[in-house]
Amino acid sequence: MSTPTNPSEIARETLKQLLTRRMPPSPENYRAIYNEIAGLANNEAAGFPERDLKALLQLLPRETPSQQRLARQIEQAIKSENWDELRTTLTDFIKEHSAETDLAWGELIADIIRQWEVKQSGLTPARKRESLDRVLGTSTKNTELLFNRLQNLVRGWSKNEIADDTIETADSPAEQTAPTTPTSSASPSPFSRASEVLPELRDLFAYTLEAVVAVQLADAPELAAQAKNLAAAARGATTVKAVQDLLANIKRLAFRLEFVAEDNAELKGGLLKLLQLMVDNISELVVDDRWLTGQVDIVRDIIAKPLNPRTLNDAEQHLKEVIFKQSQLKQGLMEAKEALKQMLAGFVDHLADFADSTSDFHDKIETCVAKISHADNITQLEDVLADVMNATRAIQLNAQRSRDDLRAAQQRVQEAEQRVNELQAELDKASLLVRHDQLTGALNRRGLEEIFESESARANRRQSPLCVALLDIDNFKKLNDTLGHDAGDAALIHLVTVIRDTLRPQDTVARFGGEEFVILLPDTPLENANTALVRLQRELTKRYFLNNNEKLLITFSAGLTEFGPDDSFASVTKRADEAMYSAKKTGKNRVVCG
Ligand code: GH3
Ligand code: MG
Ligand code: MG
Repeated sequence: MSTPTNPSEIARETLKQLLTRRMPPSPENYRAIYNEIAGLANNEAAGFPERDLKALLQLLPRETPSQQRLARQIEQAIKSENWDELRTTLTDFIKEHSAETDLAWGELIADIIRQWEVKQSGLTPARKRESLDRVLGTSTKNTELLFNRLQNLVRGWSKNEIADDTIETADSPAEQTAPTTPTSSASPSPFSRASEVLPELRDLFAYTLEAVVAVQLADAPELAAQAKNLAAAARGATTVKAVQDLLANIKRLAFRLEFVAEDNAELKGGLLKLLQLMVDNISELVVDDRWLTGQVDIVRDIIAKPLNPRTLNDAEQHLKEVIFKQSQLKQGLMEAKEALKQMLAGFVDHLADFADSTSDFHDKIETCVAKISHADNITQLEDVLADVMNATRAIQLNAQRSRDDLRAAQQRVQEAEQRVNELQAELDKASLLVRHDQLTGALNRRGLEEIFESESARANRRQSPLCVALLDIDNFKKLNDTLGHDAGDAALIHLVTVIRDTLRPQDTVARFGGEEFVILLPDTPLENANTALVRLQRELTKRYFLNNNEKLLITFSAGLTEFGPDDSFASVTKRADEAMYSAKKTGKNRVVCG
């Protein structure tokens, strides 16, 4: 076989040889065989450090004639692989250049060469070359940055670090700041003025925002995007104005992040409480296995949705309610069963008594029969007759009492049975109905009070506005009277549906009374809450209530108020009610703030 000469032939032959020699096709093996076929020195370090030093050379300034001369000398030293000459020339070059930069390039390059020659475990020349390529490849115009990256790289080598990690570290702004630390004994600070640290600081900010903050915000994509935008802004912030804007935006983000952190802490606390509640009460859930399944289903549902403190709180309340109700019902059920048992026992006792008394009667009658057969005169017979009559009356009374008792027992058994059935049915509904209005599915008053408690606490804690609106349907009695109660019910359901569709998911709607509803609007100033209610009014004019294909316009009057630090549920709903009343008085179908 003639020796191939052009590169593609050599490459093809190299692949063939790899196959023939059954060698794994690693870059090292490929390179070794390629060099062998091409007749080149088979040296893992081929191309290094000449190529890399040449790349480094490109980055050195050639502004003055002496710099240009030294650069040529360096080039020559690399070509002839005269490393001593290279070291001397480079040192000269750096001395020449240090007046401007203060960067110890000479030392650094000497370090690179020294570390290249030293053998480190787990660090092959190929890996060193790869890592150096990568640092040089991140072509930066900022020579200080490049200097730091190279310095970190060599430090990594000297610590026998894995080359890949070293690159990460070298690229990482966190590490890049290391040389600026005055206490760092490894190398002196390359910065002489605070302003020189700025590019580093910007990089560090950008890195923190992008790789640390944004990553933590997987559950808040909007904030994550904001962090990424700020990272980009940080990189481009080169003017004082841009830096000022950046600082203001970072402050705003930090402020919002505090809330995220607070929410996370609350979430964790909520989850723990929820689990605790489940575990503590499992023993209560033995009346029927369906309960247990129900509980687990609720938790499963909650976990399946994106968690927020409000839904968790909701679930906790829900579970507490179910557990409490269930333990109560269980108690009732036990009592009813106990009553049933006692009645049956009583019934059996009665039967026994009855049997005893009838056998008594038989005995007495037998005695009487004997007396009659031995009777000699009428007086004796009269006595026997009196005995017979007494015995008969006694048995009759006994029988009657037993019958009455049995009837009463039977009735009590039936009542107990009915109570057991009722309790069972109540038990089935309990989990759904305790906090929600049965007709509309909105929260009931009790559910509202619970949510109000957590929302008002949150508003106080965060100093965020919380608005409370009380809505009362206009002329509802007339609608009921003319169209019937069922149509009235359907109108209530329609209103709740429109409220839910129109307002935000975090707003709460509750049925406060007959045709009165309360809406809680967290994080909403009065003006915005007013706009939301007006939007709801407008929506109702678009989405008519349909009754037997007849379009009916439902309007409401509303009183709106903002929760204050001294408010309670009672005071805030009273104020909203008064405002609602004045909305009624001033013509209905309007919103009045109070
Ligand atoms: P206003 O415009 O002043 O509010 O007058 P109104 O007729 O709406 O108010 P009023 O308080 O006089 O009547 C309320 C009516 O709401 C009376 C009651 O029959 C009816 N109502 C209360 N709860 C329900 C319910 O659950 N279903 C139905 N269909 N009607 C209800
Ligand atoms: Mg009313
Ligand atoms: Mg009304």
